Amino acid sequence: MSTPRCAVCGADVTDAGALVDFLPREADLAWHATWCDADESTADDSSRGEPPDAAWLCARHLECGLVMARRLDIGRGLALLREADAGVEVRGQLAATLGVDEWERVLRRALPDFAIEIGSDRVEIEEDWQTSYLEDSEIPAGASNGVECTSWSVGGDQSMVGVDRIAVYWRSGAVARTDVHIGSVGPHAPGWSVWVTPDADATRFGSQHVSVHGEPSPLMGDLLRRYGLDATRVRP
Ligand SMILES: [Zn+2]
Repeated sequence: MSTPRCAVCGADVTDAGALVDFLPREADLAWHATWCDADESTADDSSRGEPPDAAWLCARHLECGLVMARRLDIGRGLALLREADAGVEVRGQLAATLGVDEWERVLRRALPDFAIEIGSDRVEIEEDWQTSYLEDSEIPAGASNGVECTSWSVGGDQSMVGVDRIAVYWRSGAVARTDVHIGSVGPHAPGWSVWVTPDADATRFGSQHVSVHGEPSPLMGDLLRRYGLDATRVRP
């Protein structure tokens, strides 16, 4: 393989540079899913190419690029990085908070890596949808207890890691809140969970909306740190 070139300046990317993952778009997840489902024997790296949500950045552009990658998809992230490269102060254009949808897609993109982390040899993602019920203490006042839960999971017969998107509705029918939960269960390792519970009618969240049960796995710890999320609440 030839030396990768920086997506901003075209310089050769040496060991001090890196391939940087930006926030995935829904279409990017489809690309990842296709390559996870592909037979290993036919999915060699040369035919695969780089993921559409990742860009090589040289050492000079890496630090700034990592800041952009925490909050923007690759199109907007590289555009802003080029502005920053031209001397424009861009920090004010980066949101302090993360979108619930963005976080859900970050976690879904990571599921094949979670499968590897729990030692599963199956990295295909299973999708499921069901209705469920939350207690009054778990929903905003005036919301309905019936919730809709879309789940994506990986794993074998015993251990699994799952991402749940839980939609809570006002009695009028509008969405009151969207929670995102990720957790791991299995007989050979202690389980852990990370919940994001935004304020009512909010589509973005920060550290104050994150709660944790158990000790997140090394990969989950990396994700929380990368996106600047420090869980402030511990669940029993
Ligand atoms: Zn560069």
